[in-house]
Amino acid sequence: MPFELKHVNVFLLRDGEDFTLIDTGLQMDESRQALNQKLAALKVPIERINRILITHIHPDHFGLAGELRDRSGAELVIHRLEVALMEPRYARAEDLVNDVAKWLSMNGVPAAEAEFVKSASMAAREFVSVVEPDTLLEGAERLPVDGSEIEVIWTPGHSPGHCCFYWPARRMLFSGDHLLPKISPNIGLHPQSGADPLDDYILSLERVRRLEVETVLPAHGDPFHEHRDRIAEIIQHHDARKAALVRLARDDAKSGWQLASELFAGIMQRNVFQQRLALQETLAHCQSLAVEGRLRKQVSRELVTWRTA
Ligand SMILES: [Zn+2]
Ligand SMILES: [Zn+2]
Repeated sequence: MPFELKHVNVFLLRDGEDFTLIDTGLQMDESRQALNQKLAALKVPIERINRILITHIHPDHFGLAGELRDRSGAELVIHRLEVALMEPRYARAEDLVNDVAKWLSMNGVPAAEAEFVKSASMAAREFVSVVEPDTLLEGAERLPVDGSEIEVIWTPGHSPGHCCFYWPARRMLFSGDHLLPKISPNIGLHPQSGADPLDDYILSLERVRRLEVETVLPAHGDPFHEHRDRIAEIIQHHDARKAALVRLARDDAKSGWQLASELFAGIMQRNVFQQRLALQETLAHCQSLAVEGRLRKQVSRELVTWRTA
């Protein structure tokens, strides 16, 4: 991938004569070729993929879905809350950009910066196309595969309809972006997110913690073990970030942009894409703190501010 994150993992599961693919890679030549080469090396003709499971609609996971479905005739399977995000994000992005502009100014982003930040993710559109899925998930579905079953674990947080796929017979968890070995996935409050995405995410981690897992197969990075240790680390990381925000908002009511600039001083200087992620991430933590009563959230027609309670 031509991003800071250089790769995405996709998985192919044998299912008798057929195959199930989990996630797809970006809609671009390098990804397409990499996938074609691997399938050829495994001697799997594309027509034998009869099901494509999608963890969530970010372009690195969903980008090639439409094209692969057309080429293979596979059943495309995705959580229904992800489908709702698709149209505005990838087909009517101009409307979404206006919502985002209003949202940026409500969160204290100066007009000059907002111009750049608001269209920061328009570029993502070229790596994905909008497609109608065949089967919609809600969570807890059992999907037959290779004489056993895969269980759909709905894990909202990183994206409202994110799903992990759990294979109890093999004690394997295909974790998508929910649980990664080295980085913590971006959890952001924004016009398309859940209303309290960080608390959704923490609850989703709890849901995964209970599973009997030997190997986690993440969408980015290497497979790993001891998923409960990794979950404890991630929860600690978010607790520390929340504690830092409580300190930063102690003396004055501050906007999300002010708090993000102080919390992520280094990252904010990198590029507009990173700035926007930092703002969303900061707001997700603020929202969780406000729900807990540790921050006071004040809203006017022009501005949202946060202050330690
Ligand atoms: Zn993602
Ligand atoms: Zn990803």
